[in-house]
Amino acid sequence: MDAPRYCTHCAAPVTPGDTFCASCGARVTQPPPEPAPPKGGYRDPATGAWVRDEAAVADAKKQLKGTLPLTIVAIVVIILVVWSYIG
Ligand SMILES: [Zn+2]
Repeated sequence: MDAPRYCTHCAAPVTPGDTFCASCGARVTQPPPEPAPPKGGYRDPATGAWVRDEAAVADAKKQLKGTLPLTIVAIVVIILVVWSYIG
């Protein structure tokens, strides 16, 4: 998971996860975290680049379209129930 790292102060190998160098005690700077993958994408094993998964994006849009009318109906029903209680 963690790539082998070296102390920026004395160049001694540093155990991944260590905050301080075991050799000289200097603080080991953590490598910047990998940017989050874009939604509906996957990493191409050949190039290492993020590829947009059109099928997954289309699927997510379809799911959203399927649940949106149900949400609207639910809200209208709740309003009607509250209305009947008030009225
Ligand atoms: Zn060191």
